[in-house]
Amino acid sequence: MKPIYMDNNATTQVAPEVIEEMLPYFGQYYGNPSSMHTFGGNVGMKIKEARLKLADLLDAQPEEIVYTSCGTESDSTAIWAALRSNPDKRHIITSKVEHPAVKNLCEYLDRNGYRVTFVPVDGYGNLDLDHLYANLTDETAIVSLMWANNETGVIFPIEEIAQRAKAHGAVVHTDAVQAVGKLPINLADSHVDMLSLSGHKLHAPKGVGALYVRRGTKFAPFLVGGHQEHGRRGGTENVASIIGLGKAAELAAAHMKTEHDRVRALRDKLESALLERIPNSMRNGDPNNRLLNTTSIAFEYVEGEAILLMMDEFNICASSGSACTSGSLEPSHVLRAMGVPFTAAHGSIRFSLSVYNTEEEIDLVIEKLPPIIERLRKMSPFWGRNAGTCQTVG
Ligand code: PLP
Repeated sequence: MKPIYMDNNATTQVAPEVIEEMLPYFGQYYGNPSSMHTFGGNVGMKIKEARLKLADLLDAQPEEIVYTSCGTESDSTAIWAALRSNPDKRHIITSKVEHPAVKNLCEYLDRNGYRVTFVPVDGYGNLDLDHLYANLTDETAIVSLMWANNETGVIFPIEEIAQRAKAHGAVVHTDAVQAVGKLPINLADSHVDMLSLSGHKLHAPKGVGALYVRRGTKFAPFLVGGHQEHGRRGGTENVASIIGLGKAAELAAAHMKTEHDRVRALRDKLESALLERIPNSMRNGDPNNRLLNTTSIAFEYVEGEAILLMMDEFNICASSGSACTSGSLEPSHVLRAMGVPFTAAHGSIRFSLSVYNTEEEIDLVIEKLPPIIERLRKMSPFWGRNAGTCQTVG
């Protein structure tokens, strides 16, 4: 049975067109792109073509793209590169709602000789810009902020921040893993120095990512080794996946024009129907400043994990908090930073759609979820006591 897959911020289906483009590079064309012979050289040409497609999606130059293994590697590479290239500066600015790929590294750096400012967010998940700018100084080595939040979809004003940060000589990095393919990105006219992305969030396979490094940005490689990626990331290329990422970038550019209004309408239909039909439910995050595909909804006095298990019986896939934090019963750090009450944060479910979702799937979730919440609440020791008392966030 085909899953009703609404967990696309965790990972996406590899597009059939992407698979088709990749397949010959597993079997027929297995040459090393660095080889002198034509057999390998042809593979190198195909990588060049893929690089061009990805650069086009970002409005960047092909030589500004460094392929990596994932978003996490891109984030680590960017942050370490900025710190190693500016050894006299020991201050970092990031936010309280970053993905663990940035958050955990910054916490590590904070314990190991750097000073890190974790900028707070408001109840809508929007960044406290006054706090950010008050802490930005000429000692700031890097400002690393996500473009769009993986849990709520809330978008940060990266370009405005980049302009302010550049005026202080800081390197600007953005974790755009959730933004690429969902928002138009124009790096040619931007002040962003480095941008991370990940293939598996935009219908390319897992195990490939990229880091955009603006021409002229001081850089130190994270993986030191061979000459690949102009010496910026050693290791023989993940050829088929890089080619898949190129195709996925081309598809993403087309889908932005043809599919995004439909996906947004599906998301809005799902969200408004659930909020209307389920009492004590509330949206997490700024409704007017978020990704088109994401909605995070809190159902008070129930456990998110229990909701997921019961939805699983109908093969409905969503997420409680971020995929990376599920498995722990701690409420999500993002929702906590937004001040979402404990009883709501625990019962928050993220639905993240893609171009492959249909209206029938939305209707099925709208039909199945309200009775699930009702059943769970009947079992909840808190529900009877607190029903009808919640505050609405967003
Ligand atoms: N940054 C954000 C915002 C993400 O959502 C994710 C994955 O969920 C990552 C980084 C990590 O990407 P990857 O899984 O490719 O390492």
